[in-house]
Amino acid sequence: MAFRDPEALKALIRTIPDYPRPGIMFRDITTLLADPVGYRATVDAMILPFIGAPIDLVVGIEARGFILGGAVAHGLGRGFIPIRKKGKLPAKVIGEDYTLEYGVDTMEVHADAIRKGDRVLLVDDLIATGGTADAAVRLIRRSGGEVVAATFIIDLPDLGGSKKVASHGVEVHTLFGFAGH
Ligand code: AMP
Repeated sequence: MAFRDPEALKALIRTIPDYPRPGIMFRDITTLLADPVGYRATVDAMILPFIGAPIDLVVGIEARGFILGGAVAHGLGRGFIPIRKKGKLPAKVIGEDYTLEYGVDTMEVHADAIRKGDRVLLVDDLIATGGTADAAVRLIRRSGGEVVAATFIIDLPDLGGSKKVASHGVEVHTLFGFAGH
């Protein structure tokens, strides 16, 4: 398989119609992660634009952003900061509410995890409406961090999230898109 071609990685994504709600096409990355070459090639492709870039920290969004963000942080030789669902982090936190393609939730980060002026690369698996990434950007900025870029495997461009996050001054990287929801 020619993994320099993002389409070869795209072919490893499994689509589950009507999950978790009717009308949602769930883009399941577990089949990509289970492929040893596919997982590595995906992480490499996410890292490549940022080799030598001025990044201090990688921030990943629970839960799939941890699987990718940890590997990206390791590859770039940077620390990793988790953004978690409400109530999971043990020390003092700051939180942001956000709207998902299929629900509403609160995300939190440790209040002391990101220092003023830290340059951050944000990582998640997929950007749909951009509500999740936007809330993460707000959290990072409230912490004093600067979001250098946000990187995702998958874009759902018809939902407008990548454009919305870009309009808030964040460079957005995605490996490939799926049309529709
Ligand atoms: P959004 O906030 O609308 O950009 O949604 C992005 C978040 O929800 C990411 O953390 C994704 O993992 C998840 N998500 C949203 N839509 C889908 C989808 N169609 N398939 C898989 N995951 C999704």
